[in-house]
Amino acid sequence: MKYPRLDVDCTKIQQNAQFLIGKLSLKNISVTPVTKVFLGHPIIAKVLVTAGAKMFADSRIENIQRMTNAGITTSKMLMRTPMLSQVATVVRCCEISLNTEIIVIQSLSRAAKQSNINHGIIIMVELGDLREGVMPERIVGFIRKIISLPNITIRGIGANLACRYGIAPDDIKMSLLSDLANEIEAQFGIHLDIISGGNTASINWALTSTNLTRVNNLRIGEAIFLGFESLMNEKIIGLHDNAVTLSAEVIESKIKPSLPWGSRGLNAFGEKDIICDRGTVSQAILALGRQDVCVTGLSPPTGMQIMSSTSDHLIIETTGEPLLVGQIVKFTLDYSALLSCMSSRYVHKVFSTT
Ligand SMILES: *Cc1c(COP(=O)(O)O)cnc(C)c1O
Repeated sequence: MKYPRLDVDCTKIQQNAQFLIGKLSLKNISVTPVTKVFLGHPIIAKVLVTAGAKMFADSRIENIQRMTNAGITTSKMLMRTPMLSQVATVVRCCEISLNTEIIVIQSLSRAAKQSNINHGIIIMVELGDLREGVMPERIVGFIRKIISLPNITIRGIGANLACRYGIAPDDIKMSLLSDLANEIEAQFGIHLDIISGGNTASINWALTSTNLTRVNNLRIGEAIFLGFESLMNEKIIGLHDNAVTLSAEVIESKIKPSLPWGSRGLNAFGEKDIICDRGTVSQAILALGRQDVCVTGLSPPTGMQIMSSTSDHLIIETTGEPLLVGQIVKFTLDYSALLSCMSSRYVHKVFSTT
C-alpha cells in the first residue's frame, strides 16, 4: 500500500446519489450531480450514471472534457460562467452553461453559430450570497438583450446560495426565484424548463418545503460524496458520511515537551501560534502535509488531535497509547480537504466497491 491514500467507496457514493435522486424526485426536483470535487473522474461519473444521473455539472471545462474523453455521453453543464477566452470549447463540450454576463452570452452565440450547434443557457440570479448572478430587478432587462441571439436557448434560471456568506436558501429566496420564472415567462412568452435552486445547502429546504414552487432542479456535490450539509454542518439523515477517508503513515513517535525552546520568530508559513506549556506530550509525525491536503478540513480519530502542519508533516498529539512508527491513521474529510486531496498528485486515490 502507498500512502497518503484517499479511499473512495463507490458503493456508498452510488447509494447516496440514488437516495437523493429518489427523495427529491418525489418533490419533482431533479438532481444534477456536481463532479468538480472529483475533478470529473470517470469512475465517479460512471457510478453516478448507474445511480440515475441524467446530466452532470462541473465548474471546469477540463473536467467536463475528461468525462467526455472517457466515453461518458451524459449531457454536461458548465456551472461557472464561461471565460470569454473559452466560449468555443464551451459550446462544443457542454449542452448548457450557467451565465451572468451579456458579453459572454453574445460570444457563446457567435461560437455556437459558427459550429452550427445550439447552446442552452441558465441565467443565474443574485439572491443575496453575493457570488454570481444578475440582480433580480435587472433580470427582465437582461433577458431582453439576449432573447433573440441566434443559436442560444434560454433553458431556465438558477441561483447559488450558501457559498460565499452562508446565506440560507429558504422559502423567501426560493419563492423569489419561482416568481421571477413566472414573470419572465409571462413577459417574453417563453417556457423555462429548468429552475435550478442551488446546491447541497438547498436540500433541507427542498425536502421540508410544503410551498408550491417552480424550483425543479438542484446541483449537488457535497451531500452525495460526504453525506454532509455545509450550512449547518450537519449530517444528512439517510446518507453515508464515510464514503471517503484519507489514510496516512506515522514516521516518528516520541514523548516531547509541549513548549518549544530558543528565541522565536514566525514559522515557515509566516504564522505565530500562541503556545502554552502543557508539560510533556505524546507527539507523532505523519507523512502528510499541506502539499497533500487542506489540513483544517481533516478530522482525526478520537484520542488524537492535530496540532500543526507543514508542507510535508502533520503533527498529532495522542491522549491514549502513543502511536507506533508505521501505524496508519485514518481521517474523515470535509469538502475543502477532499478537493485538495483530489488535486494533489502526492495522494494515492483508491476507488473500490463494497
Ligand atoms: C460547486 C457548485 C455546486 C455544488 O455545491 P455542493 O455544495 O457541493 O453541492 C452547485 N452550484 C454551483 C454553481 C457550484 O459552483
